[in-house]
Amino acid sequence: MAKVINYDFYAVGEKQLNDEANELFKELFPICRSITGDGVRQSLSRLQEVISFEMREITSGTVCYDWVIPDEWNIRDAYIMDSQKNKIIDFSKSNIHIVSYSSSIDKKMSFKELKSHLYYLSDLPTAIPYRTAYYKRDWGFCLSYEQFKKMDRNGEYHVYIDSTIAPGTLNYGEGIIKGQSGQEYIVSTYCCHPSLANDNLSGLILWAFLLRELKTRKTRHSYRFVILPETIGAIAYLWMNEKLMKRILGGFILTTVAGPGKFSYKQTFRENDLIDRVVEKTFSELQIEYIAYRFDIYGSDESQYSAPFFRIPVGSICKDKYYEYDYYHTSLDDLNFVNSRWLIETLKIYLLSIEKLEMNLAYKSLNPYCEPMLGKRDLYPQIGGNIKQGFVSSQKKHSKKKYKISNEKSIYGNELDAISWIMFYSDGKTTLLDIAEKTNLPLVQIFKVAEKLRNHGLLKYSSTIATVI
Ligand code: ZN
Repeated sequence: MAKVINYDFYAVGEKQLNDEANELFKELFPICRSITGDGVRQSLSRLQEVISFEMREITSGTVCYDWVIPDEWNIRDAYIMDSQKNKIIDFSKSNIHIVSYSSSIDKKMSFKELKSHLYYLSDLPTAIPYRTAYYKRDWGFCLSYEQFKKMDRNGEYHVYIDSTIAPGTLNYGEGIIKGQSGQEYIVSTYCCHPSLANDNLSGLILWAFLLRELKTRKTRHSYRFVILPETIGAIAYLWMNEKLMKRILGGFILTTVAGPGKFSYKQTFRENDLIDRVVEKTFSELQIEYIAYRFDIYGSDESQYSAPFFRIPVGSICKDKYYEYDYYHTSLDDLNFVNSRWLIETLKIYLLSIEKLEMNLAYKSLNPYCEPMLGKRDLYPQIGGNIKQGFVSSQKKHSKKKYKISNEKSIYGNELDAISWIMFYSDGKTTLLDIAEKTNLPLVQIFKVAEKLRNHGLLKYSSTIATVI
């Protein structure tokens, strides 16, 4: 990746973040996670060492809307042994070998009988596919096509799975950051996948880093961080927190954030929601090309959060989005596929987008009758006449040309530009993001200039500030 985004983290420096991400990838990758069980608890406990959050549980059998929390699945060992007593498939070598929620079995059988329980990918012959069977009692093994081809068609096999499916709990994590604005957003990720690095161990690590980073700041809005098994976890969470969730204004699902490909953004179902706009503005300010995916009901938990009753607009910033990369849901989505540096770059995009949510205030002009006299307030940039060259706001407003914010001259130019546009648009309804989009100026600059104008008595916060979107 050519471009590295400059960003100053508050909580932990970039070097340490990188080291931590590497450690977490290594430690958490081998754990066998599913929608319930020890692997989930173990993974959440490890993430609690990064940042504190609550680990909660809901008991098996609880009815949540149209669904029931399943019994808990735990697995200790599994293999297929050939007649020479070689373990040709061994769970201890890769937990993807076992279909998640496989029942226990200890039986000798022919290849013919075994075959209907084997899953492989003939078009990706070295990869072990990832399969699940949460809601029917079954068992199965996943193996590479190469392994499958080598199996003796006339041989007898010893199939062994030592697992339990019994009443227990579904565990999830929750961390709340309280702001004063009355606006609340959700940041959700899923912890139910076993040894798959980009989908979604990368999302778990980014979730913990993002929670820690935001916790060190004083945020205006509230953020509800949840980490739960996909689908059933999100449904259970919505069911348990129906009233609270009804008030959530939008959010993100953190998934597949550390792959080698391009950045991408999957839009919310509203397509032009504030959530979409802050992300798109972030990419545009950074001049980073990304793949834009329109909303699709196939994906992660957005289809739960955005269901008719809740209608929470949820977007996802990805780096190698699920479904789109060849190694998706296979053993090749391993630690060689991901990189901590890419995870940290995606983290920066998330933070810059959330900062835009934070800065999206609306102001009301205290000088609404005409344009203010800037000189007498010492607000007119005191620079030589040549500085104004190269920027004409009315032309730039509609141009696709990007501002170079590192250019000192254009900073001065932009500041006068920003002052004029902010004063013009500050009617109490137009937000700073609206102004930033209309002018193509960076939102952070619009925000800083607006605060300066407020300190000079030219603006006040809009009275609808808490509800302005
Ligand atoms: Zn997945």
